[in-house]
Amino acid sequence: MIKVFKFGGASVKDACAVRNMSDILMAYESDNLIVVVSAMGKTTNALEKILRLSRDNSADASVVFEQLVNYHKTITDELFKGEQNTAAPELAKLWRELWDKFQLTHLSYDEQYDQTVSYGELISTTIISHYFQKIGMKHHHADARKLIITNHRFRSADPDWETTSGKVNTLFEQTSEKILLTQGFIGGTSDKRTTTLGREGSDFTSAILAWCLNASEVVIWKDVPGLLNADPKRFPAALKISQISYSEAIELAYYGATVIHPKTIKPLENKNIPLKVQ
Ligand code: ASP
Ligand code: MG
Repeated sequence: MIKVFKFGGASVKDACAVRNMSDILMAYESDNLIVVVSAMGKTTNALEKILRLSRDNSADASVVFEQLVNYHKTITDELFKGEQNTAAPELAKLWRELWDKFQLTHLSYDEQYDQTVSYGELISTTIISHYFQKIGMKHHHADARKLIITNHRFRSADPDWETTSGKVNTLFEQTSEKILLTQGFIGGTSDKRTTTLGREGSDFTSAILAWCLNASEVVIWKDVPGLLNADPKRFPAALKISQISYSEAIELAYYGATVIHPKTIKPLENKNIPLKVQ
């Protein structure tokens, strides 16, 4: 059985959350797992902030950038405590590239957004992949920019379903590992430019991959219990919904309950793939 598991920002926000995620994966040894991971914690918001500051030529851009580097360093320090942080060289390279891309202010806002904000997911999966190696959890770390092939609509790109399906299935057939780890939210055009699928796009990534592989289910692992009928951060009285129809889920997503990316449901409904939130 192929299952797609999505871990959002809150589910990888610190070392403890990352360890918890690995524990969950270990419990599913017999399944093929596609593990879709978001940027850690509030990284995407921070990247958006740095982008705005860079485009305003503000010196604060480097201050917020440093804070973001340090936030991730706290996590790797904890994950690799007392051992060599094997992710360090790759991370240093990613941070350098990212800083350079913040200087590309001649690009349109939307294009520069995708070239920079996408690094949140690249950095989180790099850390997680090295942590998995450290604990002996075999996996294949795939670059979503080469799998989710999209149009050029920066910041809300849509996949070319056929091309994407071809890439995803080829990779799946070639990979012997049972765990395939990849980034949510990001994709790439056929001419190799990075795109993003819109905020909370990791849900959509999970649905795309599930659709391509005819997965048996998608599970969105949450820091909140079950699927709620409103964002619990804004409405603490939000009720837990145990069962929901696809059309109700689409309505909820469109009416601003920030539980699921609105484009997530349709591909799942088309192939009758159940969506669980837990
Ligand atoms: N990191 C992106 C965001 O915060 C995508 C996601 O988490 O689904 O919107
Ligand atoms: Mg998120």
